[in-house]
Amino acid sequence: MLQDLVKRVKQAFDRFIKGDKNGKRSGKPRFKGKHRYRTFTYPQGSLDWVKGNRVRLPKIGWVRFVRHRPLPEGFSVKTVSISQKADGWYVTFSLENKSVPAQPTVDIEPTEANSIGVDAGLEYFMACSNGQTKVPPKFYRQAEEKLGRLQAKRDARSKGSKPRRKLNARIAKLHQRIARQRKQWHFETANELLEKADVIFVEDLKVSNLSRRNPAKQAEDGTFLPNGQSAKSGLNKSFADAGIAQFLNEILPFKAAKAGKKVVKVNPAGTSQHCAICLNRVPKGLSERWHDCPDCGASMPRDVNSGLLIQKVGLDVASLKNAKPRSKRSGRRSPRCTA
Ligand SMILES: [Zn+2]
Repeated sequence: MLQDLVKRVKQAFDRFIKGDKNGKRSGKPRFKGKHRYRTFTYPQGSLDWVKGNRVRLPKIGWVRFVRHRPLPEGFSVKTVSISQKADGWYVTFSLENKSVPAQPTVDIEPTEANSIGVDAGLEYFMACSNGQTKVPPKFYRQAEEKLGRLQAKRDARSKGSKPRRKLNARIAKLHQRIARQRKQWHFETANELLEKADVIFVEDLKVSNLSRRNPAKQAEDGTFLPNGQSAKSGLNKSFADAGIAQFLNEILPFKAAKAGKKVVKVNPAGTSQHCAICLNRVPKGLSERWHDCPDCGASMPRDVNSGLLIQKVGLDVASLKNAKPRSKRSGRRSPRCTA
């Protein structure tokens, strides 16, 4: 176990000095007290450690656990990790079978029939090129009231007291529940999507950019002016609630690889500002939720239009960089359908 500890310290310093694989540097490593050290790993586990619903952990002994599925045949146990979560302790076995290829290669030629373009957003969690849309369930918003009540109750208790600790545990459990609801919904949504197509085009979304804080605005005399942050905080909360990044970057590719299908990231530049049918530029503000093309008469929800464009860009039948700007003569400025 001490081997793993050394590895963690090295990783913390590497991230501080050199940064991660994207060159992003983390903060200075600080002391990790026993309450922040919630996971420990045995780097060399063994199949002999597991007998039925019991596991023998070195220096601890036999511990009973809930085994949610049997260990598959032909695998050897590599590492064994113990982690503490809000509702208890978990044990994770990482398994290896040398005959299983590490990264199965998927070779599917995307066509218009076997692919689907997906625009992810807040109004619709997904808007697909086939016209299907999915509204995100707001698990966090639903639990917000209960969460607020618990937090107020906790804040009324004195620091370090037993009731406060108990309330903190209940708050942590509620957060865990919200995260699990969201995750399950993501898995179900990914399955639904993968049933419809072999290749899924998604936008290469940088959510960290979307949910960044607005810069502070200062007047000449040094006082702070409204910078729109409070309105944006509400939006950030919805972004986090929808969990778009987790879905697009982790869950969907994971499920696709398991099903032998493909997820392709597409540069989303211009996919909200062009018409998916005639590819002419149709500029829209963020508040305009409907796409009405004055040139070809296309009319559909804004995000479905984006989904179609993402598919077309992914299939390489549309290149938005070369799309000609819309002619100035038909500069229609009248309000469009906002329903
Ligand atoms: Zn058009």
